[in-house]
Amino acid sequence: MVKHFFCSRKLCSVLSTCLAIGLLSACASDISSKESSSNTSYSGNISTTTSSVLVSNDFSSYQQAQKLAHDQGYIYEGQFTPYQGSSSRIYGSTAAGCIEGSSELSDQKEEFQLQRWAAGRNYAHPLMLQYLADLRHRTKDLGLPPLLIGDLSRVLGGPYGQKSNHASHNTGIDVDLPFDFALPRKSASELASPKDVYIVKGTKIQPTFTKSIEVYIKTAASDPRVDRIFVAPMIKKHMCLLYQDKEHNGFLQKLRPWFGHQAHMHVRLKCPFDSPECVSQAPVPQGTGCGYEVDSWFLPPPPKSGKAVAKKKERVLPQKCALLLKDNYL
Ligand SMILES: [Zn+2]
Repeated sequence: MVKHFFCSRKLCSVLSTCLAIGLLSACASDISSKESSSNTSYSGNISTTTSSVLVSNDFSSYQQAQKLAHDQGYIYEGQFTPYQGSSSRIYGSTAAGCIEGSSELSDQKEEFQLQRWAAGRNYAHPLMLQYLADLRHRTKDLGLPPLLIGDLSRVLGGPYGQKSNHASHNTGIDVDLPFDFALPRKSASELASPKDVYIVKGTKIQPTFTKSIEVYIKTAASDPRVDRIFVAPMIKKHMCLLYQDKEHNGFLQKLRPWFGHQAHMHVRLKCPFDSPECVSQAPVPQGTGCGYEVDSWFLPPPPKSGKAVAKKKERVLPQKCALLLKDNYL
């Protein structure tokens, strides 16, 4: 079955060769076999947002290939290769940072749909787009329905502003993945005004915490590119109950309990190797985080000591970001 992924620019040379020699179907099947034999690879719809980045020698071929794909009513299947670098650069942390040369994610036909919590939140580092495409690939193999994608970052990253409930999502390596699927396909109005699907409410597991959701969380957290995933404490506790006594790949360690996150998981990738100014968060603590660590979230808060509460630390953007955002957003 033809999968409807756009190609990335890295695929240009493959596609242009295919087009040049008129062996489109042969090339497509070659790409397909590479996909199925690798799990550290990607396919994705990666389009640049800044004309000065990702300039490719075969840009015209890429455009031709894409046009032909549209004209013929299908989109090339992406090639699965490990991330080998890009011109995107991240500065600072996810809570105080920005990104230059982000990529735009658009709806992937039957593979996934994008929620529209607000305009222009569908930009990310290319590595994130590859992660999402891979996640869809793996979850599809596991029989899960098409995915729903929530907020990513703005075109240059940066803070969402005080009115937003996002404290991070500054650098294109965060994504919110709702605990819902794009099956049946969501209408434009459902995407424009998404409805939260809670899988836990307080300490209560909801019937919406299905086997599919369980597999989805485990699969998302199992990818080595993932730094951590924020979920509601009760979700973490439930996953601990399900998996802590089983052999697993260490994914439980990456599930971090945090406020909210009852209707979506917040996936954060590790800093890409080619963004040396990307500031990583402190590593997640050793161990699964099950037992007392997660149970402590359900204990009553300690009595107030009477000492003045420490003032919230103001987040300071790297100078590079301050300039970039000032020139473009303000
Ligand atoms: Zn988030």
